[in-house]
Amino acid sequence: MYPDWTRFSVWKDVSEEEFGHHSWQDRNSITRIKQLRAALDVVAAPEVIQDIEDGLTHVGMSIRLTPYVMNLIDWSNAISDPIRSQFLPMRSEQEEDHPCLRVDSLEEQDRSPVPSLVHRYPDKVLFLVTAVCPVYCQFCTRSYAVGQSTDLVQKEQVTSTRNWPAALDYIRRTPEVEDVVISGGDLARLKPANVFELGNALLDIEHVRRFRFATKALAVEPMKFLTDQEWVDALTAVVDRGRTMFKDVVLHTHFNHPDEVTPVVEQAMRLLHSRGVFVRNQTVLLRGVNNDALTLKTLIKRLSRVNIHPYYVYVCDMVKGTEHFRLPIAEAQSLEKEVRGVTAGFNTPLFIVDTPTGKRDVHSAEFHNDEFGVSAFRSPNVDASRLCYYFDPVRSLSSEARLAWGSEHARERILDERIEPDLARA
Ligand SMILES: *Cc1c(COP(=O)(O)O)cnc(C)c1O
Ligand code: SF4
Repeated sequence: MYPDWTRFSVWKDVSEEEFGHHSWQDRNSITRIKQLRAALDVVAAPEVIQDIEDGLTHVGMSIRLTPYVMNLIDWSNAISDPIRSQFLPMRSEQEEDHPCLRVDSLEEQDRSPVPSLVHRYPDKVLFLVTAVCPVYCQFCTRSYAVGQSTDLVQKEQVTSTRNWPAALDYIRRTPEVEDVVISGGDLARLKPANVFELGNALLDIEHVRRFRFATKALAVEPMKFLTDQEWVDALTAVVDRGRTMFKDVVLHTHFNHPDEVTPVVEQAMRLLHSRGVFVRNQTVLLRGVNNDALTLKTLIKRLSRVNIHPYYVYVCDMVKGTEHFRLPIAEAQSLEKEVRGVTAGFNTPLFIVDTPTGKRDVHSAEFHNDEFGVSAFRSPNVDASRLCYYFDPVRSLSSEARLAWGSEHARERILDERIEPDLARA
């Protein structure tokens, strides 16, 4: 069922039953450099371990990894491994951040009417129910809040269960809200009683027609669904009650690479499917992980095979210390063209750019400046008067443009003096 975990000296005496149990996985998750060093002792080269330790001093996310994920990584090819790079950065691969990076790039904190809620679109809200996940992804859009503080990013305490009553009150008194995204953070870190309570509180609000529970556990700790009976029962009880009320409750998850769709994931999906839980996937487009058509097509086919519906492919947002993952918009557009048509239309994801005024189709830019790699998007349903920018990584530009972005006051000089006048004319 699993690749051989006994190759890690720290887990050499662990039985399959233990390894396949969510509480063993939680208890043995790696959250400190010392544990990482011990775990990698015989499987990874000393240069690799050093490179990761150096990389970790330049990121906005703290480390957290399940032994299950550690074991999916091919440590003999750690440098090019698409799973390693998502969770453990190497100093040698990192690039300087784009000068236009802001810590909360989607301005979620400005669109928060009460703590833990983001209300950006007319009829839906994002409810951040917890700040912890079973793993921490380097490129997390919510790195301003999720996980522990790092050298680069001091996290504000933006969410906790104490915020729930006020957030639920806001939803109750805002009848336009018919759709709730329950994210964070990760549903898998909530107690079964909390999942049950939260789900039922939302179902009890008449104008809430549908909601989604977000969890990455299916990709990084799939045994959660097989061994945490109480938690799965709480989830399915909410889904079942929703069905009797003609309301839609689904699960959203996050797979980025075909190798993450393992036999245990299939088992977890067989269970969820038999209980009538619909699952959608959101992928982040990441350079070196999934930025080629074959990898994306394989991912989509494998997800479809286990009844996970590929919903979105997000172009990677600007997040501190993760510039090396980003792609020019033109590459995202061309990948979308290559992917569409490979399978059923309903299993073909939309490729999107997320902006402070909402998600936009990658093909829908109002304007693109090739020289400086700037695209502008408009969202009529959120704020028709505002244009939001996507910046291509500086590495993809000419040497003159790279120099210009590297100069002092680059943002003002390029955006105010070059891009904005062009836009005013367009
Ligand atoms: C992504 C997001 C949603 C959900 O958007 P969908 O396109 O329906 O998946 C809702 N609120 C916020 C703030 C979001 O960022
Ligand atoms: S699982 Fe989601 S919320 Fe958690 S760190 Fe990864 S991207 Fe961020």
